Amino acid sequence: MYIDSRMFRLGNARNVIREMYEYGKSRAAVVGRENIYDFTLGNPAVEPPESLNATMMDILKNEPSIQVHGYTSAQGDAPAREAIANDLNARYGTHFHKDNFYLTCGAASALAISLGAIIVPECNEVIAIAPYFPEYGVFTENAGGKFVLIPPDVPNFQIDMKKLEAAINEKTRALIVNSPNNPCGAVYSEETIIKLAALLKRKSEEFGHAIVLISDEPYREIVYDGLKIPFLTKYYDNTIVCYSYSKALSIPGERFGYVLVPDEMEDSVRVYLAVCGAGRSYGYICAPSLLQRTIARVTGQLADVNEYKKNRDLLYGGLTDIGFECVKPQGAFYLFVKALEDDTAAFCERCKALDLLVVSGAGFGCPGYIRLAYCVDHDMIKRSLPVFKKLYDSYK
Ligand code: PLP
Repeated sequence: MYIDSRMFRLGNARNVIREMYEYGKSRAAVVGRENIYDFTLGNPAVEPPESLNATMMDILKNEPSIQVHGYTSAQGDAPAREAIANDLNARYGTHFHKDNFYLTCGAASALAISLGAIIVPECNEVIAIAPYFPEYGVFTENAGGKFVLIPPDVPNFQIDMKKLEAAINEKTRALIVNSPNNPCGAVYSEETIIKLAALLKRKSEEFGHAIVLISDEPYREIVYDGLKIPFLTKYYDNTIVCYSYSKALSIPGERFGYVLVPDEMEDSVRVYLAVCGAGRSYGYICAPSLLQRTIARVTGQLADVNEYKKNRDLLYGGLTDIGFECVKPQGAFYLFVKALEDDTAAFCERCKALDLLVVSGAGFGCPGYIRLAYCVDHDMIKRSLPVFKKLYDSYK
């Protein structure tokens, strides 16, 4: 049987996060759920706002089923795109309109489509900065691109501009950034964004073509301590935003998000049409219709993301008190913790032996760290702290 060997490799690859999660479930059956400390998955733990289900129910009850469950425009129906534009404009002082938006199944397809739209053989390098979401490499290669990774800016987890500058060349097509970040919880400061925009402008001029900034922002609204996230299209014209409702609205299984191509972008109408074309070529058209109707009415509403702050404070405070070195998360719901030995995989195994289920930073391009997803039950964090202490003491 002929099959695409790259696709086979992807389908057959081990997913360490899922494996650890499945292990946790089977282990819980043996020792009891309360004795497992599962920090593996970035699955939101806070209920979506009540208005979400109420709106969905209202739509199902009162709107014609044949339309609710019917095909929509390929890029998504106008009311949802218009509502999203209005909400962003109200929050960020932007001037978007419905024709800037292509609705998608979450950020994953938004990223795949965006890369498919802009990568060309003569200019195909896509840069990301470690630690990074590993699917960026998959989506880039699928679109015919070459994936380039910049080492992490330890310990601040901003951007090492010198290393970034050195990686940019005449074939650089795009840079993907993700702030607030999965897996380290860092948020790029306005100062970093300003420097980044200046560098990209300078390099675009030097090489005679626009370098696109792709802002992957599924955690945009999950930030702490009153921090304000700079909206990137206001700093750099050639920005494409990939957004998802998975995290801040707590609906990852519903698969909903968008690609935003702002008017400020060079050749924006052609870029938008290429996004529509990439959506068509990948078969990612007509994002779920019920969700489109729902989002048209609830966009801008959030799950109670303050719950994650309580978890962050407890876990970060608890682990640093014990002696662990952690990156203080300013957003998202992940804590990056320095491993207590050079071999990160061995450290994860030591954690696992104590039923602390964690993920190695290696898969995110950052060995030497582990990721703890703290979108979990608050009490589980409390119960886990003495176990982390035991782990720490075992290295003394
Ligand atoms: N980008 C980042 C950084 C993520 O963490 C995730 C999911 O965890 C995604 C993209 C994909 O999000 P979605 O579920 O909306 O496809």
